Amino acid sequence: MPPSVPSTAIVWLRRDLRLADNPALTTALERCERVLPVYIHAPDEEAPWQPGGAARWWLHHSLTALAAELAATGSRLIVAQGESLSTLRRLIEATGAGECHWNRLYEPATIARDTAVKTALRAEGIHCESHNAAMLFEPWTLKTGAGEPYRVFSPYWRRCEPRLAQVPPPCPAPASLPAPPTALESLPIDALELLPRIRWDQGLADTWRPGSAGADTRLRSFLDGAMQQYTQGRELPAEAGTSGLSPHLHWGELGPRQVLAAVRDAVADITAGGAGHFVRELGWREFSMQMLYHFPETPMQPLDPKFADFPWRRDDDDALLTAWQQGRTGIPIVDAGMRQLWHSGWMHNRVRMVVASFLTKNLRLPWQHGARWFWDTLVDADLGSNTQGWQWAAGSGADAAPYFRIFNPVRQGERFDADGAYVRRWCPELEALPNKLVHQPWAARPAELDALGVRLGDDYPAPVVDLKTSREEALAAFEQIKRPA
Ligand SMILES: Cc1cc2nc3c(=O)[nH]c(=O)nc-3n(C[C@H](O)[C@H](O)[C@H](O)COP(=O)(O)OP(=O)(O)OC[C@H]3O[C@@H](n4cnc5c(N)ncnc54)[C@H](O)[C@@H]3O)c2cc1C
Repeated sequence: MPPSVPSTAIVWLRRDLRLADNPALTTALERCERVLPVYIHAPDEEAPWQPGGAARWWLHHSLTALAAELAATGSRLIVAQGESLSTLRRLIEATGAGECHWNRLYEPATIARDTAVKTALRAEGIHCESHNAAMLFEPWTLKTGAGEPYRVFSPYWRRCEPRLAQVPPPCPAPASLPAPPTALESLPIDALELLPRIRWDQGLADTWRPGSAGADTRLRSFLDGAMQQYTQGRELPAEAGTSGLSPHLHWGELGPRQVLAAVRDAVADITAGGAGHFVRELGWREFSMQMLYHFPETPMQPLDPKFADFPWRRDDDDALLTAWQQGRTGIPIVDAGMRQLWHSGWMHNRVRMVVASFLTKNLRLPWQHGARWFWDTLVDADLGSNTQGWQWAAGSGADAAPYFRIFNPVRQGERFDADGAYVRRWCPELEALPNKLVHQPWAARPAELDALGVRLGDDYPAPVVDLKTSREEALAAFEQIKRPA
């Protein structure tokens, strides 16, 4: 009799870079003797939304952390590069694997790729199974009474909240894993060339600790601290009032079921107070992903078709876009946000709304330009949340801010950064300005600025647009698309 071949499963890891609450891994372990954790680098399969520069930095470190965690369980991360289907076939051939498990993704390109892989491998007799690791409620599970996808957040969340009790608890990480065959080759993570050649990433390294241990530390410190005052604290960009979990959630170093379970352990009622507000924000992540799933054209096209004819600015657009990207618009809260983004790969939510409103309304530049810049610079760049955030800010999306509600960045600064601490941190040129001027240095008399040692247009830019005039122009532009054809 031939020696019996151990049954082998491939676990195809993508944006589920963790061992705990990873149903693909757990199911593979339950069903097979040998489990092969594999990461295949195939960014072109996600085109045109392959990971940007900051996201690649994160991925490099997250894979490194995952490889160390797997090694600690006795296993090994197999890293490969190239087309996913042919790479999986090669691994199946090399190991005799009969099963392939993965956790689902929801972007149009990844859905198409995964469907093709599933169809092809099943036709070749491989047992393929996908699982849910990333969502509390997968996008197709909740529809309106009329059977339509939800387009407005409040009724969506009213539907979700009572169902939170039914979300299954997270499954624990396996204590040990069988070792993959030693002969099986794996690329070093460096070979994926994810880190920038010109090293601009020090700010990212100073801010983040990619990997599930870093995610867990952030979660614990949020639950023990900022969560109690989340409702107020989340609006103040100078404070550490939010969880900072977005990149960890995006890369699946931590899953939403784990976050929910941890909140449940921390408070009696997960629908009330700071905890309730925080869980509701997780709901925005779910809502954004279900919008992307049901409206897959929205990363490029406005959800509201009348915005296709919006008269965006045509003159000076490159110079204005560059000023916005570099944090040199002369509007302090905008510049502070854009510099925080460049330095740390993250920006506070309130400030994301302000800079997005400023780009699309005061500068009247297409929201797609802003979404693309965020895509390249955010460590948490996520096609669902980014698309939804930009369409919301531009007024063209579901549940969008009405177009005529144009944020006044000076008022936003005065309200949410009253002592100017956020602006001073990221725009140190304005350090000496008193609070009444720090959000609008142009309002000072020239002699006053002189005395403070600040020359507008030299030390710090003069505003690239007049806030009042650009607001009126934006409203006039909106009138044009409002009229029935
Ligand atoms: C123009 C614009 C672009 C954005 N792009 C992204 C993006 O690419 N990736 C991304 O994760 N978020 C994006 N957001 C949403 C939000 O700004 C971030 O999720 C949040 O700032 C992350 O910080 P945190 O983890 O401390 O959030 P917390 O306040 O601690 O919230 C907890 C979690 O809830 C989710 N969440 C919170 N607010 C939102 C929201 N408004 N929409 C969707 N999910 C939310 C995130 O997963 C977050 O980690 C965008 C918002 C705007 C206005």
